[in-house]
Amino acid sequence: MTKRISLLGATGSIGIQTLDIIKEHPNQFQLVAFSAGRNITETRKILSEFTVEVVSVFLEEDARQLQADFPKVQVFFGEEGLFQVAAHTNADVLVNAVLGSVGLRPTLEAIKKGITIAIANKETLVTAGHLVMQAAKEHNVPILPVDSEHSALFQAMNGEKKSEISKLIITASGGSFRDRTREELKGVTVKDALNHPNWSMGAKITIDSATMMNKGLEVIEAHVLFNTSYDDIEVLLHRESIIHSMIEFHDTSVIAQLGTPDMRVPIQYALSYPNRFERPNAKRLNLAEIGKLHFEEMDYKRYHALKLAIDAGRAGGTMTTVLNAANEAAVALFLEEKISFLTIDELIERAMDVHVNISSPDLETILHVDAETRKAVQNMLK
Ligand code: NDP
Ligand code: MG
Repeated sequence: MTKRISLLGATGSIGIQTLDIIKEHPNQFQLVAFSAGRNITETRKILSEFTVEVVSVFLEEDARQLQADFPKVQVFFGEEGLFQVAAHTNADVLVNAVLGSVGLRPTLEAIKKGITIAIANKETLVTAGHLVMQAAKEHNVPILPVDSEHSALFQAMNGEKKSEISKLIITASGGSFRDRTREELKGVTVKDALNHPNWSMGAKITIDSATMMNKGLEVIEAHVLFNTSYDDIEVLLHRESIIHSMIEFHDTSVIAQLGTPDMRVPIQYALSYPNRFERPNAKRLNLAEIGKLHFEEMDYKRYHALKLAIDAGRAGGTMTTVLNAANEAAVALFLEEKISFLTIDELIERAMDVHVNISSPDLETILHVDAETRKAVQNMLK
């Protein structure tokens, strides 16, 4: 049976690779709706390639123009548009590949409609993971990881007993600056930071990888998805990005998932689960060619953002909302060349320091704290 897919963030790095997978398997997958942001050239390309029912873009004027040019498609815009794409179609699966905590409410809406969630949008799980998992439980909706580390953990857990797991080991490539000391990070440019050694990704996550915040967000994401205590989640530096993560069991056995660094593998697995589909043209892993794999202990002083994220995760409540919102705001400022690279960590730390934590926050509280934190970060610049 064909799976009907709606896709948030179709014009992004994960979005485009999701479309590749849909194209590779026309009998298994069908795109029914998608959202884009401001990239209208790519939006038009997708609209001419796929027959969809619903599309949404960021701006009203773009929506109006698209509606005139594609009369058979229902065109929406703004946040309302994200809801339409996420929850008001008869999709079986929502692939959430939008960037940032803007993905939270559409995800909750889709869960309420009983739509399976394939989630790449980690900011949603960091800002309000408890709300997402609670809603998923209530509505009996699977939340399938797309992030490569979490897909690896999910695969390694397959058929195992949760109670027999002793720890999750999340691997980290180290990002674009892994061979520099903290001192050597002063004055690095946006261009330097965007040059990731192993993965080609969107700008924000590439910066998150350079600060190591990405791994911090992923530790929180793993805690949320697998309900694992922070004491039982370890981060291991592994520069080749071949082992995507591992699980250690009580009997000391370790199960790892390996593969070439290609996000289309975890994207496809989230869509084909519980099955695996062929990828005849994809590059296969050749360990003999790679020869050596390297592992190092994580240095939490060097990667201060990782420490901040774990602290926020352990604090719980609204602290992870603050961490995420401050990081989104700070990374945007760095990309606009308004702050230096090391100031990203500083702004996040200050936002966390002044925040009075609220435990078990509801949606309204989360949205309020998210907005206030972004404002606070802007004000810190003055
Ligand atoms: P990109 O920046 O490449 O793409 C983001 C997508 O979201 C684009 O379609 C963009 O639209 C859209 N978008 C951005 N802001 C808004 C907004 N305010 N409203 C509506 N749409 C918006 O990001 P990535 O694909 O790299 O990442 C997407 C998510 O997946 C992130 O949460 C990231 O952490 C996660 N992820 C990414 C991986 C990767 O390899 N890239 C790996 C693992 C996780 P447009 O471009 O048209 O403006
Ligand atoms: Mg990842």
